[in-house]
Amino acid sequence: MKKVQRRAGSALLIALLLMAGLALYLVRLADDGGAWATYFTGGSPAGQIVDRNGALLYSSDGQSASFAADEAVRRACYHVTGDTRGNVATGALSQFRDSLMGYSFVSGTSSGKTLRLTVDSSLNAVAYEALAGRDGAAILLDYTTGEILCMVSTPADDPQNPSAEPADGTYINKAIGASFVPGSVYKLVTLAAAIDNIPDLFERSFWCGGSAQLQGITLQCTGSHGSQTIEQALANSCNCAFGEIALELGYDVLLEYAEKLGITAQLELDGMEVRRGSLDWESEDMDIGLAWTGIGQHNDLVCPYALVRYVAAVANGGSVYEPTLLGHGELDRQTELLSAGTASKIASMMDYNVEAAYGEGTFPGLDAAAKTGTAEVGDGTSHAWMTGFLNDPEHPYAFVVLVEHAGGGRVNAGPVANALLQAAVAASPAQADAAQ
Ligand SMILES: [Zn+2]
Repeated sequence: MKKVQRRAGSALLIALLLMAGLALYLVRLADDGGAWATYFTGGSPAGQIVDRNGALLYSSDGQSASFAADEAVRRACYHVTGDTRGNVATGALSQFRDSLMGYSFVSGTSSGKTLRLTVDSSLNAVAYEALAGRDGAAILLDYTTGEILCMVSTPADDPQNPSAEPADGTYINKAIGASFVPGSVYKLVTLAAAIDNIPDLFERSFWCGGSAQLQGITLQCTGSHGSQTIEQALANSCNCAFGEIALELGYDVLLEYAEKLGITAQLELDGMEVRRGSLDWESEDMDIGLAWTGIGQHNDLVCPYALVRYVAAVANGGSVYEPTLLGHGELDRQTELLSAGTASKIASMMDYNVEAAYGEGTFPGLDAAAKTGTAEVGDGTSHAWMTGFLNDPEHPYAFVVLVEHAGGGRVNAGPVANALLQAAVAASPAQADAAQ
């Protein structure tokens, strides 16, 4: 009988504790319900978002939000900051909400904090302006830290005064959330595989008569390049040479390098999933599909983020500091993509591209290494690409620029890349240090 009484007593005690817990929860909810609702559903979370120099990108007391004073900056930073409607899923307002609100599930309170991003909003504004109303994306990062200094996607909206009917693609951050036909920038990926797998690559000569017959099918080139070294073939962006190399390497090696270099791998940026690229060479004629795959046409798709991450590794001796918008506590997040020897060869060939093919006038006063792409997208237009980096220890920047349906890479993406690099170099290094 005593045992039964003890059990009844325990059950009563448990019931009382549950009721007390529920009462406490209801009081908390009534007290702090606004913050809870904001946490889960969007709105204007309390807190501030600033750029690397402390410039205000977002501020809210939890009720009403304001963004940067300058509309051009608001639009240029739209995809980085996000919006209060929750339309931009990749924005800081959605992705870094915990850090911003300082929300604690234990105490059930939200204090509102200052979240500092690594971007320089004035560089975003420069890239946005240089894109000049065309759709596309740009990223510039410091390859010795992984810090993203510029990330822009267009079209963008004004988060302070959102449009009722925004243009197609406005809510997508194309820098990380979309993939595109890469065209000849993809030759940098094929090149890495070739350097590692073709022992006499640098002793060979590659013939281009303007087109190549591969298994009875004609592969057109952009010019008639004659006999070339591999350096010249890259500078000429010769389809015949790289088609031949792709066939020699075969699908397994091309796929292995696409994965290893991060093009088709599932990458993350501060916990956000990045759009995976793909390499689909399935076609009625496998060999011509394989050749086109190696030169970045056919069904290849690449996310701008994956490309600049790879180029950052090339610039940084083969290993990449994983890119970040939040900054690293310590620099321990390096991933080796390439051997130092392979990275160094690709880096000097990209340097040669600028010297021999694009002209030093492409980047006045800068020691830049680059590769262009003009990617045919099947509707008669081409995406313009340029990716590369600066050989400058004071300004160790890697970049990618994509301008959709814009035409040639050098002529259309080149000036955007140059404007961005010039502005990044002009920004004082002392400012960058101050962000730490
Ligand atoms: Zn050629």
